[in-house]
Amino acid sequence: MRVSTPKLQTLIHAAAATIAEHVDEVTALDQAIGDGDHVVNLQRGLAALAALPGDWAGPDWAAAFQKIGMTLMSSVGGASGSLYGTFFLALAKRCKDITEINLPVFAEAFAGAVEAMKQRGKADLGDKTMLDVFIPVAARLRAMTADPPPWAELLRSIDETAAAGCESTRDLLAGKGRAAFLGERARGQLDPGARTAQLMITAINAALTQPAA
Ligand code: ADP
Ligand code: MG
Repeated sequence: MRVSTPKLQTLIHAAAATIAEHVDEVTALDQAIGDGDHVVNLQRGLAALAALPGDWAGPDWAAAFQKIGMTLMSSVGGASGSLYGTFFLALAKRCKDITEINLPVFAEAFAGAVEAMKQRGKADLGDKTMLDVFIPVAARLRAMTADPPPWAELLRSIDETAAAGCESTRDLLAGKGRAAFLGERARGQLDPGARTAQLMITAINAALTQPAA
């Protein structure tokens, strides 16, 4: 399946819808181990993306990702704002001159963008952050490029990887972010950023199973 840039608007709406459906859950998670603003931060960014004027998602993937990155950087705030901003700006850098995204191209760009997030947050797998979702998803995407399964199976596999990554944060101590100050008290709670990353990835995948816009 080919994904063209106008589809980005649909994907943004899908991400915003799932976050809106889980406001209370995510707020409770961030109140437990953060400062409670994560969902508000994300919703501000998603609203800013939805409100971008004009035909910003032109045929150039790099320009579209750049626009998303800049918008998130300036609207989200918090740790997650700079991390998501970094992610999309890095994605843009790796999609230069690409007009058609296929799995190998996207998997490499995604992995590079996750690497940029790791550097930005000085965090890695096991630090009880959104990276516990992004790192395994990047690895899974890459692993599937050699012999890609059918589209639906590929999306299911990403959903499962994201869900397992999110669940893995429950029993971790936090190495980064505000939760790191809680020590043992952070154990037993999902990381809010991991949960929202999983929710958005799964919602985007569901939107991708629908016919391309
Ligand atoms: P803040 O922690 O500044 O209030 P948010 O509440 O928007 O920002 O986001 C919190 C989430 O950001 C955490 O749940 C975690 O997933 C993620 N996070 C925080 N710090 C880092 C970091 N250094 N590296 C990666 N992710 C991080
Ligand atoms: Mg917060």
